[in-house]
Amino acid sequence: MAQAYPLRCQGAYTGGMLLSPHFSLRELTQSQTAARLGIINQPGPKELEALKLVCTQILEPVRAQFHVPIFPSSGYRCPALNAAIGGSAKSQHCQGAAVDFEVAGLSPRSLVLWIQSNLTYDQLILEFPLPKDVNAGWVHVSRVKGANRRQSLTKTRSGISSGFPAF
Ligand SMILES: [Zn+2]
Repeated sequence: MAQAYPLRCQGAYTGGMLLSPHFSLRELTQSQTAARLGIINQPGPKELEALKLVCTQILEPVRAQFHVPIFPSSGYRCPALNAAIGGSAKSQHCQGAAVDFEVAGLSPRSLVLWIQSNLTYDQLILEFPLPKDVNAGWVHVSRVKGANRRQSLTKTRSGISSGFPAF
């Protein structure tokens, strides 16, 4: 019997594939750097499962709480992309376990405080907030299968500190 559909290479997932009801693989893998450098930023099956966990356990609950679409700025990063942007080799983005994002109309600080009180996470980082601009920065959050560390950190130009600023 003839194949009624084109054969795909093993491990090739289409960008339109949904990882959870409101988030597609394309949204969690798109990268301007990858596009510019011609890097195919495609997760393997293990990373794909990790991305689904981040979408269902972090992004969907945030979306449901704040009733706004969320546009992740960075999700999965293949080793070549991670190296190209100067990311840490141990970055959880490389495992598909982390996402960077903002929520329109909500300060990154308010977002980390909500996640801290309401969700299970491995590492939650308020990235580059500014005391004089509540909208500055973004949120990095990871979620893993099994034990999650619930580590809360703030990253600024002067380094990484524990917890979140009071401003
Ligand atoms: Zn990140």
